[in-house]
Amino acid sequence: MILADTHCHIHEGFGDDATDAARRARDARVRWVLTLGVNRADSERALAFAASHEGVLAAAGVHPHDAADATDADLDALEALAGDERVAVVGEIGLDFYRDLSPRDVQRRVLDRQLDTARRVRKPVAIHARDAHDTMYPLLADWARGAAPSGDRPVGVMHYFSGDAELARRYIDLGFMISVHTSVTHPKATTLQEVARAIPLGDMVLETDAPYGAPQRYRGTRNEPAYVVEAARAVAELRGCGEDEVADATTKNAMRLLGIAVAARGM
Ligand SMILES: [Zn+2]
Repeated sequence: MILADTHCHIHEGFGDDATDAARRARDARVRWVLTLGVNRADSERALAFAASHEGVLAAAGVHPHDAADATDADLDALEALAGDERVAVVGEIGLDFYRDLSPRDVQRRVLDRQLDTARRVRKPVAIHARDAHDTMYPLLADWARGAAPSGDRPVGVMHYFSGDAELARRYIDLGFMISVHTSVTHPKATTLQEVARAIPLGDMVLETDAPYGAPQRYRGTRNEPAYVVEAARAVAELRGCGEDEVADATTKNAMRLLGIAVAARGM
């Protein structure tokens, strides 16, 4: 059994412990980890960390919280970075109308620009959408029609999915994968639990968003990629199937998302 954590910030949120956290992930059979940048400098750090740690891949992007600080020069530099063959995904990008740390029109403009980037470099996007699905869904429906990631990769992933099962299916119809976060283990996470039960395993990936949001077993502590196993276990329980089945399917999906070729699987 091997696992993949399709969303974390290991290069930034772990300080001196980052290399050890990457090792603990490997020891826990988390074979692939995607670490995502939230602005230009952070994306460069994500790439540097990925380049020096086995099994860690990088994503480059401007998070909606950071959108107000992104200059045109930053967005140009990020497009160049996104084209680097060592960058797997364009992200973390999106809209956050819950915290509104950047003005909404700026969030929208920065997202649009990066969706264009993803289309040009033919890579999937990692989407953050919080209290923003009414705007996000039609926008992505429009964009996804023209998106053509290379190979058999999905157009993107809905990170830390926060909608219901019906909305999840609509994003799946657009070609997105749905990411189930380790918070699926929280007793009150009933909507996410229903999503985890209802959508096909073939459209699901798992994530920790570490260092944020620890699973129930480790609540109150820092989350880390090794804990993605908690999400796999919870999904298996919810679906009444084996943990291996969940691990196999979600890891295969993650490899498609990340563009990891069969020859490089090392399984
Ligand atoms: Zn994130």
